Amino acid sequence: MQIKVSGLRKHFASEGKIIKALDDVDLVIPDNTIFTLLGPSGCGKTTLLRCIVGLETPDAGEIRIGDEVVFSSEKNIYLPTEKRKLGMVFQTYAIWPHMNVFDNVAYPLQTRKVPKEEIRKRVAKTLAFVQLEGFEGRPATKLSGGQQQRVALARALVAEPGVILFDEPLSNLDAKLREETRKELKTFLSELKITAVYVTHDRLEALALSDTIAVMRAGSIMETGGPKKIYFGAESRFVADFIGRSNLIPAVVRDADGAGSGDEAGETIIDSKIGRLACKKAEFPAGAEVTLCLRPEFIRPRRVAPEMQGKNCVRGVVESLLFVGDSYEGEIRVGESLLLARIDPDADFNEKDEVFFQVEPQQCLLVAK
Ligand code: ATP
Repeated sequence: MQIKVSGLRKHFASEGKIIKALDDVDLVIPDNTIFTLLGPSGCGKTTLLRCIVGLETPDAGEIRIGDEVVFSSEKNIYLPTEKRKLGMVFQTYAIWPHMNVFDNVAYPLQTRKVPKEEIRKRVAKTLAFVQLEGFEGRPATKLSGGQQQRVALARALVAEPGVILFDEPLSNLDAKLREETRKELKTFLSELKITAVYVTHDRLEALALSDTIAVMRAGSIMETGGPKKIYFGAESRFVADFIGRSNLIPAVVRDADGAGSGDEAGETIIDSKIGRLACKKAEFPAGAEVTLCLRPEFIRPRRVAPEMQGKNCVRGVVESLLFVGDSYEGEIRVGESLLLARIDPDADFNEKDEVFFQVEPQQCLLVAK
């Protein structure tokens, strides 16, 4: 089911101040999509989710789930949570410790007075789906964290909702289990063909899980797009910086419409603190002050200067190297700038070594200052 949010506003009054948790948010969450609301703490993600669920009443705007208007300030419509046909999975698993797995999963059907035999069948089907067949009689307290999370998922799915909402569901799991559960969840959700709205402040989780990510800041949606678009093609400095580690380097546009090479579209030429560079074409006029966003994984230092007529070739000095297992996190000094680089673990560099690196224009992203 598609979710459409229009002009949604929610302000809170706290200690004499007004907090704009949601500031006229417009958003379309397409059918059958894993859609993530990503943003720093306090940006309004949970408030938006709670408004969609019906746990929070917005001050203004409209929310539509499928064909149904579930909230409208103008038309005075407010549909209670239980009538919105949603499934929910929260940060604390919220499974009942005094119940066994069967009763936890059956609960939403029991409250809807579904016949017993039907409940048995649907619980069995859902438990098989989350790979917990045979766990029916197990007390909830005798499950691992990952299993508890799957019980919570089964309970959210058992009533076959058109939309499922997740609020930081993996944040209580340790790092390894979190990674595994993330993978499982992605598989489950893709198989289900369901609309999933997922709230997190963890950018890796958002990149790995989502079809579409909406990045929020201070009650507004900053940008929406697929993980690669958001990671490689962010339109603002805030999003580029929030979605992944990046080197943000001040620059001025020298030539707004550089020729580019071969079949490539034109390039934007900049003068930056690390030298003159050809960048991915951007809509900034000559003379504009911009920020160059260069991801650490695109900085691959070498001992000898690359050829290619020195285009986009930068010279620097290794300032520090930190071994982190699958790579070195290196800091490369280029003039006044200190750039973060991800270096292969078998690279043979030492601190104070002179190095060179060459960046592809398409990897040099320009965003507003
Ligand atoms: P987090 O990742 O920390 O959960 P979030 O992005 O989900 O953050 P929200 O919980 O939606 O953020 O909160 C948005 C803003 O609204 C915050 O500044 C928060 O302090 C404020 N807020 C939320 N609920 C209330 C409330 N009931 N009363 C007053 N202020 C609130």
